[in-house]
Parts: sequence; structure tokens; C-alpha cells
Amino acid sequence: MRLAGWLVSLTLVAGAPVAAQDVPQGLLPDVAAPTAYRIDLTIVPENERFSGHVEIDVDLKKAARSLFLHGRDLNMARAVARVGKRSFAATYTQVDPLGVAKLDFKTALPKGKVTLAFDYDAPFASSAAGLYRVKVADKWYAWTQFQSIDARGAFPSFDEPGHKTPFTVTLTTTPGLLALGNAPEVDTATAGALVKHSFAPTRPLPTYLVAFVVGPMAVAHGSVRPSPQRATPLPLRIVATEPNKDKLAFALENSGPIVTLLERYFGTEFPFPKLDQIASPVMGGAMENAGADIYDDSLLLLDANAPVAQQQLFGMVVAHELAHQWFGDLVTPKWWDDLWLNESFANWMGYRIGNEWRPDLDIGVDAISEGFEAMDLDALVAGRPIHQKISNDADIDAAFDQITYGKGGQVVGMIAGYMGDEKFRDGVRLHMSRHKYGNATTDQFFASLADAAHDPRVLESLRSFVDQQGVPVVTFHRANGVLTASQQRFAYFGTNAPAEQWIIPLCIRQGDARNCTLLDKPSAPVVANGTGTLVPNAGGWGYYRFDLDPADWDSLIAAAPTLPTGEALAVDDSLWASFYAGKANTAQLVALARAMARHPKTKMQLDNGTRLAGLRDRGLIGAAALPAYRKLFVDIYGPMLAKIGFDPKPGAHANDNADTVELREQLVGFVADNGHDPVLRARLAAAADARLAGDAHALDDAFLPLALAITVQDRGVPFARTLAEMALAGKAPDLREAAFRAIASSGNADVAKWYFTEFNDPRYKPRQRLFGASLFLKDADTRDAALEYMLAHFDEFSKLTGGGGIFSGRSAEMFKAQCSLAAADTVDAKLRAEGGSTLGLDRAVEGIRNCARFKDAKAGEVTAAFAGM
Ligand SMILES: [Zn+2]
Repeated sequence: MRLAGWLVSLTLVAGAPVAAQDVPQGLLPDVAAPTAYRIDLTIVPENERFSGHVEIDVDLKKAARSLFLHGRDLNMARAVARVGKRSFAATYTQVDPLGVAKLDFKTALPKGKVTLAFDYDAPFASSAAGLYRVKVADKWYAWTQFQSIDARGAFPSFDEPGHKTPFTVTLTTTPGLLALGNAPEVDTATAGALVKHSFAPTRPLPTYLVAFVVGPMAVAHGSVRPSPQRATPLPLRIVATEPNKDKLAFALENSGPIVTLLERYFGTEFPFPKLDQIASPVMGGAMENAGADIYDDSLLLLDANAPVAQQQLFGMVVAHELAHQWFGDLVTPKWWDDLWLNESFANWMGYRIGNEWRPDLDIGVDAISEGFEAMDLDALVAGRPIHQKISNDADIDAAFDQITYGKGGQVVGMIAGYMGDEKFRDGVRLHMSRHKYGNATTDQFFASLADAAHDPRVLESLRSFVDQQGVPVVTFHRANGVLTASQQRFAYFGTNAPAEQWIIPLCIRQGDARNCTLLDKPSAPVVANGTGTLVPNAGGWGYYRFDLDPADWDSLIAAAPTLPTGEALAVDDSLWASFYAGKANTAQLVALARAMARHPKTKMQLDNGTRLAGLRDRGLIGAAALPAYRKLFVDIYGPMLAKIGFDPKPGAHANDNADTVELREQLVGFVADNGHDPVLRARLAAAADARLAGDAHALDDAFLPLALAITVQDRGVPFARTLAEMALAGKAPDLREAAFRAIASSGNADVAKWYFTEFNDPRYKPRQRLFGASLFLKDADTRDAALEYMLAHFDEFSKLTGGGGIFSGRSAEMFKAQCSLAAADTVDAKLRAEGGSTLGLDRAVEGIRNCARFKDAKAGEVTAAFAGM
């Protein structure tokens, strides 16, 4: 699975229910093992419910009068067990809201082979959890999303990844609709007014990889050409809702080459007899159902002129899901404890194979970015290791986070880089052949790698990163001609993280001389046998931060524009981390920002701009520093903007490619907002005025929010009032959302005060007010007022968003931009009382405290540094 960030938090809503003591909360008791499913579903998407007849063959390990299994919100008409010719009526009861059910029999079922049969109906879900339906352009469609524990909402099952069996499926639906499952269709027959589609038995699958799709779909047919690993063409279809019928060509053309690259990597043919690549409008992310992958519309449906970022995402996500067809589907984790292995490996493969598919798109570098983003989270004292015990169904979905994907992916890449590509690949192939169509654990994967590497220390290294949280920082120091590397746990300024040690695959570079070693002690001499600048994280693949003597930093900063992107990202990450640890100074940051602006990759040119903007968000730029701080943005990013030109009128840059368009938007923000450039601000304000006066050709929509926000910031409450009135009166419906967004992101403290105390217009709905408040929370000059308001209206907003712990969970995310010790205490007390202790809350509160401590200690120093420039 590959989820968009926001969806991860949405899946957290299932609260732990109060359950009877004997209800299993994780693994079911090891009594019944399914060996085959026969699933007959009637799915008519325009109905509110679907119905099913399901039979499960099970092996009973001992005689039993009752059995636990899974089923959620199924209206059970009949449940029986058959043993040979005998029939045992059962009482079916759902005993837990998360979908644990119990079958009770009057007399005990004998040990051995039993068939359980069920007749039931159930409601369609309305979002991507279970068997769900969505209306698109007046027509209803149905899809499934079962990972992690939602198959049980579609059929009674033993809904655990450790049970892999064949599934024989029929789908009965309205004539004319497409119906598809994991296996090829083998028969179509009339069934009364409906049509029954029969599918071949699947290869052994766990429930979470089963999929059904029914609807008036648009379909593009093709095939993947035979490969050295596969003698016959692989049938391929791209499937989407009717209105998307013209957007299938890109996926049809590009899915095949990715399959071929994966076959070459794994050394075996695609593990399933067909591949459907399916788009759904509400998926959010993507899911690796065996032979029937489902993606969000935005991920699968694009054309060759799509922005580079969208093509990169297509390559990464499609390669990720298709890599799962082997790693996850062919060989499946035994239990959710080993989910990390599935996702970390697929994440690394997604970037790697994506990169091979289109080297021009630089997809591999994004894996490194994702790894460094995960470090910011992993560096907090509150956290978790990648590999984690999961004993409760309610905890499974929380494991799909940045630690699993970002850190896990980078750790896999680091070990693969250290072992060498071929040895690592051989270990993966060995693992696939040992466990194909079965299950495997983390230890079994490690054993396969060890057998391929002939080096047990590699596994100790892997374990040191997988079984403990935290980020190592390696400090390089020169004395008497010897370069020494020392490791400790990275800690933000003023925090005490427990001491930890790793076995770090340390790869350093000097010129063309690359040197890799395992740093398995607190400190050891290292050999750098080239000439020139020391690059402490060669390639950028190491999951560690570094710190250097001042002279080595100077040299590295000067070399920044010439570094490969992965190494340049590592430099940005490590210098800024050193700064927030209280070591590197402001002058070094500024020197790096100026140097990196000359890097050939746009991503690197902009990276320090975003980080510099963070200085002000963290309250580090006092009034005395403001002129020099603003001038820095104009100095660095002004010339870049001048080079590509800027005209706010719609269509003025219609001939630019999508990437230049995106670059311009970023640069205009840096220069006008962060740099406060008066000329550009006046130009945007004039364009905003003209647009408000009715001239649709004065200002492009892309610059509308920024132009309005700047104008509100400069003109204050009177203009905010006028803008709000215009929006509420419906005089400019196209401006309504942008108007309120501009007010709430203006960063004007007086406007915030007005919004929270005087602006009580009943036409402005509570949900809009909540959204506005969440934007005010983000700016340094308005966040205190916004927090006070949010806390005062907490119950109201909580009720508005569904009650329970949902709002407090979201609030931890919203409040984390606070930056005072008092705010940390307030947020901590309020949210812990409302929603209990969660890792998200612990992290948010710690982040607020870190920001506050750093500001209190360093704002003076940073301000003085800018004021003296
Ligand atoms: Zn995945």
C-alpha cells in the first residue's frame, strides 16, 4: 500500500472498543486454518447493500463447539458447518466492533476438514475501506480496499495475512457492467435479470489482497510483451470510470515496461496470470491487490504532458505496487509485525525501478528526500523503531507511517548499497524462491540475505537500525593527520535522548575515491584516501547525519553546487540538523543557501529557501534582523525569478512547461512574501485590486491566494472586512475560497484578532471558521491568538468533526507549529485529557518544546547574525 499522508491519519479513527475479556484483539486462536474460499457475491452498485454466499474450507486442529473468525456489520441470514454429509447449524455473533465474530454450535465439530457456509447481506462502504461504492457522473461503481482489516466487512473470513488460500469467486451484477477480480474471468452466464461472472481460482492469497471491481468501467486492453522470464504475453487492462475514458493511454503504455524491469530484478515471471491497473476516485493512495492493483485516479490517469512531479509519482507508485506483487503478494508477511519489511522494501524498489523506467525524471532522489524527512521525526525522543510488535487490530494501521516508508526504505537502500547490488538482489531472489506463494518473517528475510552475503555483520547492522528508534550522527574530526569518526544519537538542542549505538555502513567520498566501512564502535579512525572535499555520506543513501570540523564544513559548502543531488540533500539535512542541535551557526546556513542556489537541480535551489523561511516560523528573526533576512531572499531568488520572468495575467506564461510554472510560483512566494520585495508586492496588490473590481484578465488563479494574502497583510483589518463581505455577498463566487484563505494566511495579528473576536457573520459556517483557524495556527504572528480561540471552542469543533478522539488526534497535528513552553503545556494538558496519550501527541508536544527552547536560547544570536550582515 502506498498512502497519501492525510489518508493515514484518516485510517486512525477506529477507536479501541471495550471488549469482553475473551475476545481476541489480534491474532485469532490457532484452532481453525482456512484452506480454500468460494465467494459468490451479488454486487449491484446502485443498491445500498450487497449480498453473498461464502464457503470456507477449514482444517480444525481440535474438536470445537465454538470458533472465532472475522466479520463486520454482516447481516447473517444463515451459518452452517458441513462435515462430510452432516450439517451443524451455527449461531453467528459479531462480538467486537473491529470485526471479531463467533460461531457457536450445539454439538462439537470434530477435528479435521470442515466447510463453513454463510448467507448474508451487508451495506456498501462509502469510502475506501471494505467493499465501497461511489457515484461518478450519475453512475454507481464499486471497488474494494481490504488492507489491513477490511475484508471482513465484505465477507466472513479468517482475516489475517498468515492464512493464504485459493479464492474461487463469482460476481453477479447488472448486464453491461464490467466485473473483475484477482483472477481471469472464465465464464459469463445469465442469472435471472442479472449476469454471473465466474473467475478462475486464484493462486494462494491472504484476504487483504483480494479485490472486486464492478461498474460501467472504461477499459483499455493491452498486454505486456514476453520477457526472458516469461514465455507468453501478460494480459493487461487499464480500468477507470467512464468520464476518464480518454486518460488511459499513458498507464497502458507505461505499466508494461515497469513489469519487465521487475521481472528482470526478481529473475522470475510476474507471479499472477493477468494484470489489471484500476483507477478509483477516492483511493487517496494505491493498493497492491494480486493482479488487480487499485490506484487513486490522480496517480494512474495522466498524459505525457503531465508535470514532472506527477510522472515521478506515477513511476514510483506503480513500481511500488507492482514490486509488491512479488514482495508482499507472492511472499506475504506472517503477521502485521513484519509489515515494515513489505513496505520498506517496496518503497525502495518503487524509487529504484521508477528510476530505471525513466532515468530522466530523477525519481531515485526522492527516496533520499523521504529518508531525510523521516529523520526529523525519528530524531525526537518520543518515537518507535521500524520493527514493532503489533498485538491489537486497532494498532495495525498506525504502522503505515513515515518510519515504515521513509526510514525503512532508506535503511534497505543503505544495506543494499553496502552489500553491493548483486549480492543484495541474490538475497531477495533466494527469499522469493524459498517462500513463494507462502508467508515469511523478518528473521527469514534476514537469513536469506545472510546466506547471499556471507557476512553476518550486515545483519547486525540491519538489526541495529530496524530494532531501535533514533538517528545516528557521525562526527568527523581531524587531529595529527588522522580522521576519526564518532557516533552518537542525534538530539535536538536541549534534549536528552537515551544513548544508542549502531553498526553504521559508513560510505565516505573524496574526489572519485569512495570508501565504505562498518562503524561498529563509538569511535574509530577512517580512511579517506582521495583528494579534495570530504563527502561524509557518499550518494546520500546512509541513514545517518554528520557533523564536521569548521574547515571541512567550509569546503563542503563551497563544493555544494557540484554535488550529486543525493549528496547535496544530505548536506542540507546535516547542516540544518547541526544548527538545530545548537552547533552550526547562522553564517554557515546563509553560505549554504547561497551556494545551493547555484546547484543545477531546481529541487536543491529551492530547498534552503524553505528552510530559511522556517527560521521566522520558529521565532528566530527579531525585528533588528528583518531587513537583512528579507534582503537575503530577494538577493538569492530575485535573479532566478527575473530569469524566467513573471507576469500575473492569466495565460501570460502559457508556453512554459509545467515545471517552470511550478518554479515560478515558488519563487514569487520567496521574493514577495518571505523577501517582502516592495515592487513585486505592489504589482501583486494592483493585480488583486483589478481582479476584485471585475477584471478577470488581471490575475491568474495560481497567484490569487498569494496576491490577496499579501494585500490583507499590508492593509490590515479594513481590507479583510471588505474582502469577507464581498465573498459572503456572493459578488465574486470564484473568489470566495481564496478570499478566506488569504485572510487566514495573511500573518497579520490585527486581522487575526478581528477574525477571532469581531467577525461573527452567520453566513460564515462553523466548518469554514475551523478551517480558517487552522491556517492562522501556522503563522508565527497569529498562532497564539489562534490557539487560544481553538481551545476556547474545542468542544464545538470536536462535535463538528464527529466527536470522540478524532478531533484531538487532528489537533495534535494542527497545534504542532506552536513555539512556546506555555503552549506546549496547554496543548499537552488539553489533548491528553480529550484523546488520551498517543505517539502523535507526544511528538507534537516535544516538537513545540524543542522550538521554544531553541528560540529562547538562540533568537538573540540569530537576530544579531542577520543584523550584522
Ligand atoms: Zn506498499
